[in-house]
Amino acid sequence: MRKTDPEPGFRMKIVMKITLSQFAGFCDGVRRAFDIVDNLDSDKVKKPVYVLGSLVHNRDVVKKIEEKGIKKIDLEGFTRAKEGEIGTVIITAHGVGPQIYGLAKEKNIDIVDTTCPKVIKVQRLAQAYSKRGYAIILVGDKEHKEVKSIFEWGNGRATIISDREDLKNINLAQSEKIIILSQTTQSRDFVDEVYGSVKEKYPDAEIANTICLATNQRQDEIKKIARESDVVMVIGSTESANSTRLYEIAKSLNKKSVFIESDEDMPECGFFKGADTVAVTAGASTPDWIIERVIARLESCKNSLNAV
Ligand code: SF4
Repeated sequence: MRKTDPEPGFRMKIVMKITLSQFAGFCDGVRRAFDIVDNLDSDKVKKPVYVLGSLVHNRDVVKKIEEKGIKKIDLEGFTRAKEGEIGTVIITAHGVGPQIYGLAKEKNIDIVDTTCPKVIKVQRLAQAYSKRGYAIILVGDKEHKEVKSIFEWGNGRATIISDREDLKNINLAQSEKIIILSQTTQSRDFVDEVYGSVKEKYPDAEIANTICLATNQRQDEIKKIARESDVVMVIGSTESANSTRLYEIAKSLNKKSVFIESDEDMPECGFFKGADTVAVTAGASTPDWIIERVIARLESCKNSLNAV
């Protein structure tokens, strides 16, 4: 028997160290939006109240909001609504273009604006650079609400770059003054790639760093924990841009990365067999109570694996 072998009859304990990211869960912008809506005084607010899209990309939070009598409306429904059909509209942290504010005014609809201040900053930059005659290169997901809002504040003067294909197709005149802006939750690596490539073609192009701090911190941390852990669990919705980005980064560095929206989507305990370290992180739209439930399920897996 080797010195390191366990004594006969001795059962090896499974370590399975569970580490929770220090940045997991609601970012400041999402927490602010959630608190504003959670604290709405239903006696004072003009009814009916609608939220334009999902306040937070999380089904638990969406349910909580619905329980408060707040219904969801999409852009088309909002645009079609006649005066009196909507009392108040809640604008989500992702922001909207200027025409929504105009439409609300026209239809006498009150606004509860939860646009994240960091998104407002990019919208204002787009507006200012557009007025100064710049061509805007906007790095972000074409279909994402935040990107559409920045595009509209930029007076439709932006070329949106969502992937490498778009990057190849940039076709601006050499005489154009160019500014690069990005969605607040973009991958910094991709923004850097875009900047490098644009600079080669247009050496005078400028860039404004508009990735928010919460996104930067989470992306830095996920790279570290994905390399150091046996399993990575990213909690978030596939509709959430920042959660998806975290998962993509984790997966590129650690094949045993899992993307779940809640504890209900967790893999069976057997999945964790042999894992010494499990790291858990969560996107900016994942509430604490879901993270706590995932950790509790992981602890129970650890105990059941140890009991075998
Ligand atoms: S991820 Fe950043 S920009 Fe988006 S809501 Fe959170 S703090 Fe604001």
